[in-house]
Amino acid sequence: MPRTEDRLDQWLRDAHAMEQQAVKMLDGMADRIQNYPDLKARITRHAEETRLQAAAIADCLKRRGTDVSTLKDMAGKVMGLGQAFSGLVVGDEIIKGSMAGYTFEHMEIAAYRVLVATAERAGDIETRDACQAILKEEEEMAAWLAEHLAPTTLRYLEREASGQTAKH
Ligand code: MG
Ligand code: FE
Repeated sequence: MPRTEDRLDQWLRDAHAMEQQAVKMLDGMADRIQNYPDLKARITRHAEETRLQAAAIADCLKRRGTDVSTLKDMAGKVMGLGQAFSGLVVGDEIIKGSMAGYTFEHMEIAAYRVLVATAERAGDIETRDACQAILKEEEEMAAWLAEHLAPTTLRYLEREASGQTAKH
């Protein structure tokens, strides 16, 4: 098999692991958020998109004849950014979570830009188009988070200053 094909398979498996990690992170955040309804709704929506993204990548791998039984082994190998940014202890988890989400979306954007170029190079147009469609969703989520970081921060500060529950 030519090397480009191997790389495409490998990076698709990495993307699948990344999406599995994303589902865990987004579900966890959506469950905990109580006082930031817009953020909760957007994260819930992206969690659903993310489940479909993982399935779409799995379909690409199956179509390419890659053994999908190896997919489970890959899960959890992507570092848990949610944990790395955890504000659970210091009480600012909504801010740390927003930052982690923003960072994670950009990691995904980078991964799908690489995949689109690689699939194009490999002549796998279905995979390229699938990755292009996912890339668009990641960019939309990243843009939403970018727009809402400041308003979320102000809401957090306001709630905290008035003695309300602000952390999530
Ligand atoms: Mg994703
Ligand atoms: Fe995403």
